[in-house]
Amino acid sequence: MFISYFYRMKNLLTVLIFLAASAVFSQNADSLILRKIFENAINSKDAYNNLEYLCNETPGRLMGSESSIKALNYLKSYFEKLDVDTVYLQAYKTDSWRCNSSSVIIKSPEGDIELSAVVLGPSAKTYGDGITANVIEVQSIEELNKMERSEIKGKVVFFNRPVKNTFTDTFQMYSEAVDQRARGPEAAMEKGAVAAIVRSVTSLSDDVPHSGSTHFDKDRIPALALGVKSADKLSEMLKNDIFLNLNIKVDAEILTNITTYNLIAEIKGHEKPKEVILVGGHIDSWLNTAGAHDDGAGIVQTGDVLRIFKELQIQNKRTIRFVAFMDEEYTQSGGKHYAESIDTLVERPYFALEADAGAFTPTGFTFTSTEAQLELFKTFKPLLEPYGIKFIQAGWGGVDIYPLKKFNIPLTAFRTDTHRYFDLHHSANDTFDKINFRELQMGTTCISGLIFLTDKYGDW
Ligand SMILES: [Zn+2]
Repeated sequence: MFISYFYRMKNLLTVLIFLAASAVFSQNADSLILRKIFENAINSKDAYNNLEYLCNETPGRLMGSESSIKALNYLKSYFEKLDVDTVYLQAYKTDSWRCNSSSVIIKSPEGDIELSAVVLGPSAKTYGDGITANVIEVQSIEELNKMERSEIKGKVVFFNRPVKNTFTDTFQMYSEAVDQRARGPEAAMEKGAVAAIVRSVTSLSDDVPHSGSTHFDKDRIPALALGVKSADKLSEMLKNDIFLNLNIKVDAEILTNITTYNLIAEIKGHEKPKEVILVGGHIDSWLNTAGAHDDGAGIVQTGDVLRIFKELQIQNKRTIRFVAFMDEEYTQSGGKHYAESIDTLVERPYFALEADAGAFTPTGFTFTSTEAQLELFKTFKPLLEPYGIKFIQAGWGGVDIYPLKKFNIPLTAFRTDTHRYFDLHHSANDTFDKINFRELQMGTTCISGLIFLTDKYGDW
């Protein structure tokens, strides 16, 4: 009895040692592949060159613009040259908006002073000489809503609450202040305002204005953002002259029922081609920016996954599909259309990753998934740590891939150090020269590594 027990224990021990050794072996094998991915990424200029093209040749890629189509066609021909298995533009129809010019001018007794301003989408247009009206400054929508309609009617409402630097997380800092841009103009309109202007949502103290979307249910008024220095200047002048007038001009229009596209490129899976692992970002940018970090970087990093898998001849089990989503910025129509287009009789969505946090130093991945899936993803962390990954945790997956949640698949967002993100976000400062090549390709490595490990070990 004792002897047979001893032998059983000995056998069990042998099995355990074997399992532990093979786990170490596969960890080593995986870390070698990740190292190869990194070396490939850091020795290739494709992503960097593609980003330079997007920024310098196709700035202002708002849906409906010529730039947005030129950018799609450029990337399409890149993937065709790369000779991936499938490349096509996925067409759909939607409404968009465009603006040709806009201005905000203080009509002071000493003369006109032009402020640094950018239009918010979808601002209403002005006619003739524009709108000239008195300005009233408020700090918040709540403050506005406490005021009488008679105090607001016929005026320009000026939302001037700065971001709070007391947030350690810059996304929280942004979220706390962005309501005045996203909802302020509509709230002002409902009180009878003729236009709204908003202090740019940034912690930088320059005068470069930051654009973005603002919500209008049906009716609209002109809506613009001011550079921080311009907002401070206007606020100062209003202290001495409450009867100060502003002149606002906007030349903009709604584009109805236009045809636009997502770009899709993929390499087929070797074992389970119907199971689709998606990587992507958004190809569009605000009209006032080259969109280097937001989100040209995410586009070229996730696009580079296909090149790396091809060049390293990684035998991906599942299909790896890159999607350049149109229109994250305005109505998120690209992500919605993509999710609606999936025929589950033909393919099975398996996993989706979105990169839209800029090409800054990688920090982690956040997941919308089951507990069991998250536990698996957490086991990848030691392999990704050398390339910057500090956390793998539950959290937001991403705007464009969010509609894929209906398929009950894990979604993940690539995360970076975002301390400089809102200095540049939606502004003319988000240019190619702000891209650090090493940081860009560290991010590409983390994304490609996560896709490699998920394809290899994912089992759901
Ligand atoms: Zn973005």
